[in-house]
Amino acid sequence: MHEKQKLLASLPSVDEILKSQQGLEWLNKYPRKFVIQGIREAIDSQRKAIIENISFDFSPEDLNKEILKRIEFLSSYSLKHVINATGVVIHTNLGRSILSEKILENILKISSGYSNLEYDIEKGKRGKRYTHVKRILREVTGAEDALVVNNNAAAVFLSLNTLAKNKEVIVSRGELVEIGGSFRIPDVMKSSGAILREVGTTNKTHLFDYEQAINENTALILKVHKSNYRITGFSDEVPIEELVRLGRKHNIPVMFDLGSGCLIDLKQYGIHDEPAVKDIVKKGVDLTTFSGDKLLGGPQGGVIVGSKFYIDKIQKNPITRAVRVDKLTLAGFEATLMEYVDEEKAVKNIPTLRMILQSPEEIKKRAECFARKIKKYIANAIIKVMPDTSRAGGGSLPETDFPTFVVSIKPLNITVNEFEEKLRKGTPPVIARIKEDSLLFDARTLNEKDFPELVSRITSVLQ
Ligand SMILES: *Cc1c(COP(=O)(O)O)cnc(C)c1O
Repeated sequence: MHEKQKLLASLPSVDEILKSQQGLEWLNKYPRKFVIQGIREAIDSQRKAIIENISFDFSPEDLNKEILKRIEFLSSYSLKHVINATGVVIHTNLGRSILSEKILENILKISSGYSNLEYDIEKGKRGKRYTHVKRILREVTGAEDALVVNNNAAAVFLSLNTLAKNKEVIVSRGELVEIGGSFRIPDVMKSSGAILREVGTTNKTHLFDYEQAINENTALILKVHKSNYRITGFSDEVPIEELVRLGRKHNIPVMFDLGSGCLIDLKQYGIHDEPAVKDIVKKGVDLTTFSGDKLLGGPQGGVIVGSKFYIDKIQKNPITRAVRVDKLTLAGFEATLMEYVDEEKAVKNIPTLRMILQSPEEIKKRAECFARKIKKYIANAIIKVMPDTSRAGGGSLPETDFPTFVVSIKPLNITVNEFEEKLRKGTPPVIARIKEDSLLFDARTLNEKDFPELVSRITSVLQ
């Protein structure tokens, strides 16, 4: 008992540590508030350990280490850079599309100074923020008019709320999509005030199903792209061109929620289930909605393209103000879309497209280069380059396997689960996939500029 009291009495005070050489160094580097909190937490935890007979001694060095760990945690940002070794290019949990330097330069330029965000330079008076991306969107989609909002969920919500509040919207039962993250067509429909009129069955919907559902309260025919699933076997859906014809006949607008919204024709790359926005627009669809950060490869955003008549209406909806994009997004969007004027450049310059469409040979070269670098430092693991497959992610191209190459590392001194956890919890976190007793690093989503950091993380975990 006496020993315990002595030990407790020997714990330094917050003030003593603050005034020590080490304390002064911390105060120089970190916010005072976090330094004090870090010291207090570490002392409290040490005191508790003594009282509960967990600790019978402590060294000032260990205490300082504990304090620093806490100060660093308190001062660090929650949103961090991570290394994506999953091979999933549009990884929704890891931030979806990444942006190129060129696009970031434009965001930096526009947001670090003033801009004509809502100023008409020609006329010298107030302008509209939405005008900035209209021209380029018309150019790359062939649509008459366009509007960009916060994300595609907002684009769908806004369109339904503007065109179909308290009115019926006809949707096939095979297309009542859930995207994840609580975006479900029936729920969005409900909260927008539109009334869902389901037609057909899960596997088959015919044109007559739509036609029979039309009544004087029908405001819209909606088609939804089966982003993250496919219905195969005994199944049928109505092509968009037939829905457009039906809509024209009854004077009802037709909308297509494309989800991903690819701006190039992927058929030339052997991908047939993701239509190009341009081809959909050409078919006369009144409104087409899609994401900015899926296959398009830009910042988060939702694009609505189609007839000026309906887009004008949507722009006037007061809710548009609540889901409007900021200048960072607009700057990123305009620069991304500009790349699409020349499709060959888009495939090279937009990281999402480049990573999805790169050849297995290129990926293999990068995997081999990475494997060589780690082999230099690591002896206690089995390191191999192997063929595998990766997926696009982000609810895009769910059935398409992209041949890839992975670096497989089987640790010999720790379990694969420990290996995975330590890589995930360090700085920067590395996210990789376990397969049997190896950890797989898919070179599709690895960037050469991440190699030094990645190699040093792996080395520190395995040594
Ligand atoms: C992804 C997706 C959405 C939601 O888009 P966000 O940009 O994530 O809001 C809506 N509809 C479909 C069909 C989708 O695939």
